[in-house]
Amino acid sequence: MIITEQKPLEEIVQFLTPYSSVFICGCSECATLCKTGGEEEVKNMKGELEKIGKNVPGWVILDPACHRLNDMKFFREHKKEIDASDTLLVLACGNGVQTVAEILEKPVYPGCNSLFLGEIVRFGNFEERCQLCGNCLLDMTGGICPITRCSKSLLNGPCGGSVEGKCEIDPDIECGWQLIIDRLKKRGELNVLRKILPPKDWSTSRDGGLRKFKIAQIRKAVEKVPRQKEVKTEKKIVSSPRSKLEKILKEGKFAVTCELGPPKGADPSPVKKKAKLLKECADAVNITDNQTAIARMSSIACGVILLQLGVEPVVQMVTRDRNRLALQSDVLGAAGLGVRNFLCLSGDHQRFGNHPQAKNVYDLDAVQLILALKMMRDEGRFLSGDKLSSPPSLFIGAVENPFADPFEFRAIRLAKKIEAGCDFIQTQAVFDVEKFKKWMRILKNEGLSEKVYILAGVIPVKSVGMARYMRDYVSGVTVPDEIVKRMEDAKDPKKEGIKICVEIIKQLKQIEEVRGIHIMAVAWEEVVPQIVEEAKLLPRPKL
Ligand code: SF4
Ligand code: SF4
Repeated sequence: MIITEQKPLEEIVQFLTPYSSVFICGCSECATLCKTGGEEEVKNMKGELEKIGKNVPGWVILDPACHRLNDMKFFREHKKEIDASDTLLVLACGNGVQTVAEILEKPVYPGCNSLFLGEIVRFGNFEERCQLCGNCLLDMTGGICPITRCSKSLLNGPCGGSVEGKCEIDPDIECGWQLIIDRLKKRGELNVLRKILPPKDWSTSRDGGLRKFKIAQIRKAVEKVPRQKEVKTEKKIVSSPRSKLEKILKEGKFAVTCELGPPKGADPSPVKKKAKLLKECADAVNITDNQTAIARMSSIACGVILLQLGVEPVVQMVTRDRNRLALQSDVLGAAGLGVRNFLCLSGDHQRFGNHPQAKNVYDLDAVQLILALKMMRDEGRFLSGDKLSSPPSLFIGAVENPFADPFEFRAIRLAKKIEAGCDFIQTQAVFDVEKFKKWMRILKNEGLSEKVYILAGVIPVKSVGMARYMRDYVSGVTVPDEIVKRMEDAKDPKKEGIKICVEIIKQLKQIEEVRGIHIMAVAWEEVVPQIVEEAKLLPRPKL
């Protein structure tokens, strides 16, 4: 059913201003059930328009508004009233409005906003269930649609932001992936999710242009839409490392990487300043890609600036902002300029950033982006199968959040990233080392920790407020109360934050499977050299 809401009366009045007489159409189906265009609503609208001096010569409930032949019949019956009207107002979905406008010459205006295709949960209570992608994959996800019910339309499992079954973007929205996992777990079919779902063919959705369908063509249409093929990946073993970071990890040295947030402007000097500061204390510097969905200087451009200064970049690529064409093209461009390390993420939802009105892309999820990079590197092919003229040399990374819900699925998701072709993993910030160790034990038992280099993330906290904020509001981060208490009691919270960070690094270093550390000093990069020194990680290997 198409769910609609009535437009505010002021908006309707505004576009009807030039007209003195209005014919009103309602719809017998969805708009009646939504109480936006049934007989009662049409009569109410008539009353409202008459109150402001409009003449309403007539009205009709179309059966339904999107049925062209039926509409024509109704319009013949109401010809006299329609002829006496300057315009028509249609209280139905956009589909119905357009059907009416295609039949009549007079101006036609929409009285409703079409919201989504949904289910009636209870009377007057609707929820979206399907985005009409044209190639249903509900058989692979326990009958729950990840395209619709996951806010990022991820196809290979949850992002790292789900908390207690709720979506990171709104605690009132259930995490679609939690629902899928719960249902499959209940049926004893969780293993279904171990398979990588390859990049979806969106050409069957709205992205393929205007869709048409004739019942007579049903067989042909089904034949045209191939099912998702199973993905088989084989990693090409290369003896020579592709980057300094890979060399350090391959040689069994404990790696240090840190994060650099690009500026919100075109002046490269802040990037250069931070690069110089971090050059001697990190093996590679990770450039964030519009982190927290805030527009900044591009991660690739910053990566090239770093290369010019002799600093090795790890370029982040989020799938939120670019489709597969742009992502593959940007990777080739960056590789052509000398970037070797890439970190594949889905990215924070745009609702968190400074452009919440933006349209997100999520053509690929992080697992599928890893797959794309691996195909380009190891098979010399694009996702489409087309051959590359020369394959890029890439060291492929991904992120994982050991603390996000659902905990039992984290290892499965990591296994998918490894199978897709991921070489190294950067984790979300660790504050709760015991919980982290528990996750590491799971990875060890599943044989995953030996297949990928794991860099444990740490964040130095600057203030009590930051510690509390991370504990209470940052999804997927566990900050034990003991750490918050230490920050509260500290005479010098900054000093204490650095001390805590160094202690955590020392504990993480003791875990055999942790192959390095990733320091995320959010807008506090100047403390990184001190942290690395106090953690006894200097000097960094010269290669
Ligand atoms: S997979 Fe596609 S067709 Fe199936 S419910 Fe989801 S959006 Fe609709
Ligand atoms: S928390 Fe993440 S995985 Fe879950 S619905 Fe929201 S965006 Fe999707």
